[in-house]
Amino acid sequence: MMKTHGLGLSTRCIHAGDELDGRGGIHTPLYNHSTFAFRNTAALLDVVEGRAMGNLYTRYGLNPTIRSVEEKLASVEGGEQALVFSSGMAAESATFLAYCKAGDHVICLGDAYGGTMELLGGNLPDLGISTTFLLGSELDRLEDTIKATTRLIFFETPTNPQMEVFDIAGISAIARRHGVLSVVDSTFATPVNQSPLALGADLVIHSTTKYLGGHSDLTGGAVIGATKFLAPISVWRKNLGQMMAPEVAFLLARSLRTLVVRVRAQNAAALTIAERLASHPRVARVNYPGLPGFAGHALANTQMKGFGGMISFTVKGDAHMVAAVVDRLKLFSIAPSLGGVESLVTQPITTTHHGLSAEERARRGIVDGMVRISVGLEDEADLWGDLAQALATGPTPA
Ligand code: PLP
Repeated sequence: MMKTHGLGLSTRCIHAGDELDGRGGIHTPLYNHSTFAFRNTAALLDVVEGRAMGNLYTRYGLNPTIRSVEEKLASVEGGEQALVFSSGMAAESATFLAYCKAGDHVICLGDAYGGTMELLGGNLPDLGISTTFLLGSELDRLEDTIKATTRLIFFETPTNPQMEVFDIAGISAIARRHGVLSVVDSTFATPVNQSPLALGADLVIHSTTKYLGGHSDLTGGAVIGATKFLAPISVWRKNLGQMMAPEVAFLLARSLRTLVVRVRAQNAAALTIAERLASHPRVARVNYPGLPGFAGHALANTQMKGFGGMISFTVKGDAHMVAAVVDRLKLFSIAPSLGGVESLVTQPITTTHHGLSAEERARRGIVDGMVRISVGLEDEADLWGDLAQALATGPTPA
């Protein structure tokens, strides 16, 4: 295996973790085997009892293709170890279950993906695990909200869909002072734009379905951090049967090799599009950390190297007029995901945040006119042309 420690991010995305097959293959092959054979019982026991590193059974993660992509992910996030999962939600649920028992408490900051809110607010209470949801505007209450039973502070940054930016170093320091784990969902940012572990977070979570996969052709998740924090999560992953399939791990490694060029191109195109949207007469507001007028811009400048490919904006007009704008888009597909080479558009009220009550949406500022776009890798001029024609047609409200 090539030593990649200390090398640049693109080099690590390409070479870290590779386990070559000795036959000239230039990257880790796909071992889609569910099990592995041993020459004798003693050799099997060496692996089962932890004396030797070996391949044993894919659901345990003891498979070279899975181990290889985990080493690549650990390297690109700057963590000691990574665990991969069958989805981003699998990564989240294993983390919450590993750290919270009946009577325990979680704090979730700001907007979170709708599935995360359903898990924390709908499923985990059935197991006696409660969550306090604090908005960004309520962050001054964070220390008072931490109880003796609080185990985790979980937050996305930037958030979905408001693109709110949270102070990873500051929040992680508060968590550490109270003996609570800080967990950052860095899906929107990617390791190209943000390194939560270097800023003091204990664990980083990704839906690898998004930018890390990058081609809308795989579903997966990852948790990255110190081995001591990952050990209990690994046991839950094994026994809940949440392992990423080897075929998916192979595809994910393929995608990670181009992560840096993809994300940097998406950063550049999104910044230009956000600037143009901000001066468009039919757009009331643009949420993008790269815009100097955006509330999170100064903080983003201190903890992000690029501002990402996600933008949300509010179109003037009622829900029907906004839906008409979305429906007129041709290059942006209406789809509830993000981070792929294809540009996507969604209205949070129809997809990611459809399950929230009208009051909760209002409290969170998720208005009917809000549109979220994931800027893909098509030509920037074509993407702007598509947005401009969709916004231009139809009556302009007073
Ligand atoms: N985290 C964020 C920020 C997301 O946007 C999503 C899905 O959209 C998830 C987690 C869940 O990921 P998955 O769909 O891979 O389970």
